[in-house]
Amino acid sequence: MIAGVGYARVAVDLPTPELFDYRFDPAAAPVAAGHWVVVPWARSRKVGLVVATAATTELPAQRVRDIERLLPGMPQMSAEWLELIEFADAAVVITGGELALPSVPKLLRVAPTPSSRGVATERARKRFDSRLAAAPPAPPAAMPPVLTAEQQAAVDSLQSIRGHAVAVLHGVTGSGKTEVYFRWLQALLDADDAAGGNAQALLLVPEIALTPQLARRVAQRFPRHPIAVLHSDMPDADRAANWLAAAEARARIVVGTRLAVLAPMLRLAAIVIDEEHDASFKQQEGPRYSARDLAIALAASRGVPIVLGSATPSLETWHAVGRGRYRMLPLRSRASGAEPPRVRVLPLRTLPTRHGLTEPAIEAIGETIAAGEQALVFLNRRGFAPVLVCEACGWLSGCEQCDAYRVLHRAASGRYRLICHHCAADQPVPRNCPTCGNVDLVPMGRGTQRLEDGLIELFPQARIGRLDRDVARRRGATERLLDAVNAGTVDLLVGTQMLAKGHDFERLTRVIVVDADSGLFAADFRAPERLFATLMQVAGRAGRHRPDSEVLIQTRYPDHLVFDALARHDFDFFAQAQLRERRQAGLPPFVFQALLTAHAKTSDAALALLREAKGLLLALDEAAPLTVCDPVPMPLAQLRGESRLQMLVESPSRKALHVALAPWIERLRALRSGVRWQLIVDPLEI
Ligand code: ADP
Ligand code: ZN
Ligand code: ZN
Repeated sequence: MIAGVGYARVAVDLPTPELFDYRFDPAAAPVAAGHWVVVPWARSRKVGLVVATAATTELPAQRVRDIERLLPGMPQMSAEWLELIEFADAAVVITGGELALPSVPKLLRVAPTPSSRGVATERARKRFDSRLAAAPPAPPAAMPPVLTAEQQAAVDSLQSIRGHAVAVLHGVTGSGKTEVYFRWLQALLDADDAAGGNAQALLLVPEIALTPQLARRVAQRFPRHPIAVLHSDMPDADRAANWLAAAEARARIVVGTRLAVLAPMLRLAAIVIDEEHDASFKQQEGPRYSARDLAIALAASRGVPIVLGSATPSLETWHAVGRGRYRMLPLRSRASGAEPPRVRVLPLRTLPTRHGLTEPAIEAIGETIAAGEQALVFLNRRGFAPVLVCEACGWLSGCEQCDAYRVLHRAASGRYRLICHHCAADQPVPRNCPTCGNVDLVPMGRGTQRLEDGLIELFPQARIGRLDRDVARRRGATERLLDAVNAGTVDLLVGTQMLAKGHDFERLTRVIVVDADSGLFAADFRAPERLFATLMQVAGRAGRHRPDSEVLIQTRYPDHLVFDALARHDFDFFAQAQLRERRQAGLPPFVFQALLTAHAKTSDAALALLREAKGLLLALDEAAPLTVCDPVPMPLAQLRGESRLQMLVESPSRKALHVALAPWIERLRALRSGVRWQLIVDPLEI
């Protein structure tokens, strides 16, 4: 060891799992874990995060370069944050800066040059402060409502928590979960203010679209507590400003989507995850972390309480409630006192349809409009029709790149196009059948566009509004539609999932689910869980403020348990039945899974990689307690011209699974086979 020299292990801002050693002089400039540094990289410079320091390095001295300087103005990351990152890395089996660095706003990861104007952190601080000062004072909220007895009990229970606990706020739709979060956080922040503290709360929501809405409500109710919003779809400068305000505890409430869980909140005192069951809390690409799991781990390591709110908690969560690990806070009735909607199941096998709607559904819509109320017609399929067919030879509009059909869409011009929802390939509709030349190509099935056409024919007088991702792409279109619904200038709403989440429509009393079956018999074992959550959520839009509301569900399987449970508004009944099935079948949450996927030009190449990976895994002593399945094609076996295969690894013990995954991945990384692969721990879709 050379006296007076220290070495830092640095996660450099590069897409690599490796850490790199740099030298520093502890006497001149002490460097510690959590510091942001500027380091030389090849002929340029990069920003890096010091993960650890040591007195020695394994590298030959002449190959180690010096840290140039600390990154000016950046706060040192706390030991707790580094611990969270380490936990997250282990959970998804990655290393280095792959998760930590991208979680920090780009503008704050820039190595300063002589020509850079000022210091990035200074600009970010000014921006947050000036926007706070310039923001018009939020219009005062109407007097907060008097809590219902159930809400009060939930708030009391939350306030009684000392230290860490996980509470599940299981509230039917419209039960006023948000009000419970607010009252609890208010009490917590006020008490902390009185004690001269500076506590922070983190509020996670599933959808970017829901963040402005919630942030507005929070601003009204917390006028004295600065708020920072964090999601992936905001201007870089705002994200930098808000992230830094969270890191330095100048923002007291952080409202954000899954990435906000990685914000290094200095004084974190409470966490809320709204709609905790939502799949969007799981990152869908890159490191597949689960923001829910991370938030729970974070709360545990900080010793603070966390609330998971949902009308349909994930079965993982429900299982933990059942075993007494999580505290259960039920809200069984709606805050407005309104009855939950009646549920009527309409059998599609026996009832004839017009435009995809059965006669009772058409009647119900007519009555609703006549009464001056609103109806929502739900179909989770956008476009005009899911497939175009040649009736002469049976040709279907398949995608050449993917194992999927190209969906018929009507463009704003009125022209029809075939679009693949997976690879976005977009082509005009062929004049005649590519195989037999027949000119009569017909749309089969129905998407929201075609459904809207049908409704216009059935109800020519009605004012109809549609919402799906195609509509939402047009700037301001979503807000305009939601405003119109709230103003009562829309009678009939048609749309997808986008209409199901979070909205509180005053006059809506009927919900019609056009086709509940697509999710029922999917290969994926989580399909019924997702279907139930979706149906519950969309049904929950009906009758939030008016009596006599109804949900009509069209299905070919009216006797299915999902509908029975829904009609009884009995989530527990559904969840227990599912958990029994899962236990018998040896599925999560009774086993833990990891999925290795391989993507290659040919399925042979992907298969070869997975076979080799299997061999590598089975050669490890740590693999003994694991079940390693054979490689099989993924549900979408071809995507963007690539073949995709998967291999499932299971264990009844999470620990056993992780003990084997880490060395396995290291060996896989060394393979350099040219085949892309990815490991997904706790995969949501199999
Ligand atoms: P959830 O998220 O549980 O579906 P919300 O938080 O959106 O429900 O609340 C549903 C509606 O009930 C909102 O309009 C809300 O303002 C209202 N609300 C909440 N609590 C009360 C209460 N105690 N008394 C009256 N109205 C309430
Ligand atoms: Zn044909
Ligand atoms: Zn495609």
